[in-house]
Amino acid sequence: MTPILSLSAAELERWLEGHGEPAYRRKQVWAWLARGEMDFDGMRDLPRALREALAKEFRASSLRSIATSQADRGLTSKTLFELDGGHSVEAVVMRYPDRSTLCISSQAGCPIGCPFCATGKFPFGRNLKAHEIVEQAADAVRVLAAEGRRLSHVVFMGMGEPMANYHAVVESVRRLSDPELLGISPRRIVVSTSGLIPRITQLGEEKIPVTLAISLHAARDELRDVLVPINRKYPVQDLVDAAQTYAEGTGRRVSYEWVMLAGVNDTERDAKELGSLLKHRLAHVNLIPFNPVEDTPYHAPDRASIRSFKERVEAQGLNVTVRDTRGREADAACGQLHERVMRTRVPVS
Ligand code: SF4
Repeated sequence: MTPILSLSAAELERWLEGHGEPAYRRKQVWAWLARGEMDFDGMRDLPRALREALAKEFRASSLRSIATSQADRGLTSKTLFELDGGHSVEAVVMRYPDRSTLCISSQAGCPIGCPFCATGKFPFGRNLKAHEIVEQAADAVRVLAAEGRRLSHVVFMGMGEPMANYHAVVESVRRLSDPELLGISPRRIVVSTSGLIPRITQLGEEKIPVTLAISLHAARDELRDVLVPINRKYPVQDLVDAAQTYAEGTGRRVSYEWVMLAGVNDTERDAKELGSLLKHRLAHVNLIPFNPVEDTPYHAPDRASIRSFKERVEAQGLNVTVRDTRGREADAACGQLHERVMRTRVPVS
């Protein structure tokens, strides 16, 4: 059966008209999906015959939840979804007093192959379709609605390189922010990239002012070539120039992510290089203590090293945040999470 979110607004309206229903029923269906209703029969303001026709023809979601896991005393929950065709991706919901954030996947696996990342360790599966990305958010809406919460923020920091699945990601951002569907402001959506410069430029031209996050991790090419292999194609200075153009065009400060690896990118030299690279840029630096991944040679620095690295970068005039534990969980989604969920997997009955 066809996943209903794989249809555009116009396609669904045509289908409705073909079934003798007015086009405005599409808005009603979307409103139910946006409230987390996954059962057509529960869409109570639709005529019964229409609910039955919808159920006969469509699935509310193509995702199957195959495992769940909780952390932070239930404030963080992770779901592993099986996609049509068998690949799996995960999504992470993080609850805070003032917001609820979903960390979303855009690819099953990742072609970039960063050596500290668990996703890079298993073979690339496939790009997600736009509706598969939106369905992760619809599921989070459903989970949060049951707790009296609302999904307020979405970060594309799960499995995959969003810019390597550009068109589906942009389409999904439009759907996520569509007031008739999920209505999440683009300003509350973060799209991360390891550095595909032409796509950053293209995103800047889309006029959807999402926040851009650059997975930087090193400020010199020699080291970044190793940690983020796409750097061999798109060197770090060019990347920061492209990100700055994006920031100036959208008015959105760019977030630079820095997974801290003991003895690798946490030295005084790294702090100085980071400071010089981002000086006078519209930039915010997020330091992410490394969450260990099996079969990699990397370790997290101790707290004192993290603090002194932060102070050194701040002393050069930059805004710096160290992610809290849950932030680490979220970034773990960039590859590390899948492995951990699979290891601690709780089958869903
Ligand atoms: S860190 Fe991100 S870009 Fe690098 S391999 Fe992992 S998922 Fe891909």
